[in-house]
Amino acid sequence: MHYFIDVILPIPLERLFTYRITSAESSFIKPGMRVAVPFGKSKIYTGLVYKTHNNAPKIYEAKEIHQILDEFPIVNPVQFRLWEWMAKYYMCTLGDVLRAAVPSALLLESETIVSKGQSQTINDSKLKDDEFLVYEALHHQSSLKVREISAILDKKNILPVIKRLLEKGAIALKEEIFEKYKPKLVRYVRLDNKYVTDEALEKLLDKLNRAPKQKLVIMTFFTLSSKTNNPIKVSELKSLSKASSAQIKTLIDKEILEEYFIQTDRIQFSGEEREPIKLLNEHQKEVFDTIESSFSKLNVALLHGVTSSGKTEIYVKLVENIINSGKQVLYLVPEIALTSQLVHRLQRYFGEQVAVYHSKYSLSERVEVWDKVLNNSVKANIVLGARSSIFLPFNNLGLIIVDEEHEQSYKQFDPAPRYHARDTAIMLGSFFNAKVLLGSATPSIESYFNAVKDHKYGFTALKIRYNDVLMPEIELVDIKDKHRRKRMTGHFSDRLIEEINLALQEGQQIILFQNRRGFSPIIECHTCGHSPQCPNCDVSLTYHQYKNQLRCHYCGHAMGMTPECMACGSLELDNKGFGTEQIAEEAKALFPDSKIGRMDLDTTRGKYSYEKIINAFEQQEIDILVGTQMLTKGLDFRNVKLVGIMNADNMLNFPDFRAHERSFQLMQQVSGRAGRTAERGKVLIQTYNPYHNILQQVSNNDYETMFNEQMNSVAHTNTRPIIG
Ligand code: ADP
Ligand code: ZN
Ligand code: ZN
Repeated sequence: MHYFIDVILPIPLERLFTYRITSAESSFIKPGMRVAVPFGKSKIYTGLVYKTHNNAPKIYEAKEIHQILDEFPIVNPVQFRLWEWMAKYYMCTLGDVLRAAVPSALLLESETIVSKGQSQTINDSKLKDDEFLVYEALHHQSSLKVREISAILDKKNILPVIKRLLEKGAIALKEEIFEKYKPKLVRYVRLDNKYVTDEALEKLLDKLNRAPKQKLVIMTFFTLSSKTNNPIKVSELKSLSKASSAQIKTLIDKEILEEYFIQTDRIQFSGEEREPIKLLNEHQKEVFDTIESSFSKLNVALLHGVTSSGKTEIYVKLVENIINSGKQVLYLVPEIALTSQLVHRLQRYFGEQVAVYHSKYSLSERVEVWDKVLNNSVKANIVLGARSSIFLPFNNLGLIIVDEEHEQSYKQFDPAPRYHARDTAIMLGSFFNAKVLLGSATPSIESYFNAVKDHKYGFTALKIRYNDVLMPEIELVDIKDKHRRKRMTGHFSDRLIEEINLALQEGQQIILFQNRRGFSPIIECHTCGHSPQCPNCDVSLTYHQYKNQLRCHYCGHAMGMTPECMACGSLELDNKGFGTEQIAEEAKALFPDSKIGRMDLDTTRGKYSYEKIINAFEQQEIDILVGTQMLTKGLDFRNVKLVGIMNADNMLNFPDFRAHERSFQLMQQVSGRAGRTAERGKVLIQTYNPYHNILQQVSNNDYETMFNEQMNSVAHTNTRPIIG
């Protein structure tokens, strides 16, 4: 009898490829293990065994495999089921899914590029002969392809050698050269051990009588530590005692204070103070009970909770129950870079049980999380991750939380599989019979439909903020009118300037929101704000300069560009839009005494620049932050009083059938950044058309009317909302 395996290769092949194995191998190989296999004339790939069988392929002669790379499967049968579903539903190959799913460090191939590792301290004597040869070669040549290494060693089965070298840190894979995540460290001090006794302490204070400033620092230290059990930050100590960095350093040098660092976020839990999870208040409790009882009938539920209503604390309670029952939890967030606040919070509740999975991590860190999940390690009881974490090899999943379920970044556009992580998570959940909770302050139309109209999901709503903090007051500013009365300075209305000055006087912070899509090629009249619309499709027409035409990119309807506004006849048509940069410049001129920061794709491209800006804003080093939708993502700033939306119209007029829904979501989310503490926040929305239904719905915080209206406009073309 002959033995064969079907292998998924990490390339877009329509069919699986069949290889031949020996009968000894056949008793060892299981689906989900990796094998190194030859492909084409000279390539080697790492493939994943899909199936073992005894049928020789009819069209070609099956080649033999090079090597079995695993002792145990690295994915479970459930993952295969999910992959099959994805390949079919998102119309791609299993190879595409494999490539997206498994960290590339586990998928070495002949074209993979290898270079010298970061670690400087490789002990030659610890390397085996073949390992040493490769290591040597990399001292003469900065990088090598795996197949070149194959030539150096004069053998085919070299993936194990490479794997060992990787583990020893002697080599690195090319992909690892992308941006690495550096943990954020915060500096703390504590009193040196010598001074724990009262006696020693008294002596110290006596001695410090000659250095009054240093004494003040120590006294402040005591005041602080008597108030809290938390570690004392240097920054805190410094600002309270008004000491200089040099004075603090002297105390450290004299070994009176001892400095230490705590990593404030991400992968490793560094033993910070644990905190019990919060007791839910009556409203949260009610929501929690509704979710629990709906889970007894349906696996999926939607929680519609306004910003700052305490959704996260409800998730935490659910998470606790599930891990106590011995199951794994997947906590999905739209963009992990934006969630250091959340990581921190979860670690305080769950300590080292939290793992974070994130495309910015190095390959080896990703492999580490992969292994933890595969082995059911306690350290991965809760995985917090962005969309790709749905691929982790869970085997005992009990709960998936999809936070901010309306977010577009859950959808992968390129390359294949072009999946939506929320929808995939629901599928994954069903395979495990796990519970899935979707949460948002502004649910997507399709999820709300599934919950409230179709009753496919359970549903519950939380309409008030935690501690009864009021929702921000929203004011619409008619800039058509302001323009006419010459009350605009650049893009700022007199009302906005007034409110900004007020907030600045009170020492509070301001967010100015300008959609980056302001650059989209739509025409807007400067006088009346009109944008030409497609007569068939209810979307804005886009301007095509080379033909001087307006076109609908849904139905193709085209018309010539007219020199004057079709609504009011004005000649002042604008197709440029304006961006965050211009707003920031104008703000500098208007508020010369304030610090202005800008956050958009341009300013956050560099390493950690996103964190830096957020940090500076949190530490109140920036008074006015101008930004794009990046600002909307669940950030919790304590001192923001005012949010200004510079121009609502270019969001509303964006040529997309979901433009209205998205505008509502964006404006609600950005408004949610205002006044999250005791004081009520204020939101100013500048617009040419204050009577636009969406703007009315935003100011009344009226999701339901928005939903019903959007459903009606979708109903013209489709009876069901489009998922995508
Ligand atoms: P959301 O996720 O809906 O935006 P959060 O869960 O972040 O809201 O809650 C907003 C704030 O209120 C947070 O600072 C949170 O710690 C606090 N909070 C929420 N629920 C409770 C509770 N039951 N007890 C104490 N504080 C709470
Ligand atoms: Zn006009
Ligand atoms: Zn059209």
